[in-house]
Amino acid sequence: MAALRKAPFVAGNWKMHATASEARELVSAVLKAAPGVAGAQLLLIPPFTALAEAARLLRGTDVALGGQNLFWEDRGAFTGEISGPMLRDAGCSYVLIGHSERRQYFGETDGTVNRRLRAALKAGLAPIVCIGETLEEREAGETTRKLDRQIEAGLEGLAADEAGAALLAYEPVWAIGTGRTATPEQAGEVHAHIRKRLEERYGNGPASCAIILYGGSVKPANSYALFKEKDIDGFLVGGASLDADMFIGIAREALRADREKK
Ligand code: PEP
Repeated sequence: MAALRKAPFVAGNWKMHATASEARELVSAVLKAAPGVAGAQLLLIPPFTALAEAARLLRGTDVALGGQNLFWEDRGAFTGEISGPMLRDAGCSYVLIGHSERRQYFGETDGTVNRRLRAALKAGLAPIVCIGETLEEREAGETTRKLDRQIEAGLEGLAADEAGAALLAYEPVWAIGTGRTATPEQAGEVHAHIRKRLEERYGNGPASCAIILYGGSVKPANSYALFKEKDIDGFLVGGASLDADMFIGIAREALRADREKK
């Protein structure tokens, strides 16, 4: 299991971008700049076809590798799927679960999130469970109710130590890939709510140790103010993670805010 430390955590979800040779360039650029943000935990999440190349370059470094999804069975007749043991074997220590694009386009539900989450833990992967409301839900005042449902059903049946091995990512659907970021106040308020729910489920210790990321159009220009919010422990970055300077810039701003937070 990946050691979860509470350093500013910056994960780059490359989505369906980067061939193996493009991954080589991007990983190399991140590695070159990474010593400048040594206090941050960096995680790269390329598409499956670029994992081998990324793993080769990341071996022996502090930059972690993750998969974008996994199936809940270890092996079998499941064409097109990838299992937890396969991700481990490919060099991953993290895996994204329930990204809103998976929920929106590929039929992911809270029930399948729970199955994938259990599979990830069984394989020794640290799951990053994505939750978030749509614009309609926010405008209808349904944000916290939606998140509560996603937390309740997604983490159903998990003991405190299992839940403690997972990270949560709050990603308002209306802010993903739209250029429209939640304000620091909006994001901070939701993160505090999520931590409170975790505290109710698992107690104060696990809740205060939990890593809760924010995602949704994060860039160097907005990451300082977001990270200053007490309950934001890091970022899940999509578009900006395809540019090493932007990705490292986000980590740099998070570190700057973190120093002022302590
Ligand atoms: C994401 O893919 O999780 C994401 C937050 O994307 P973007 O940063 O592009 O909004």
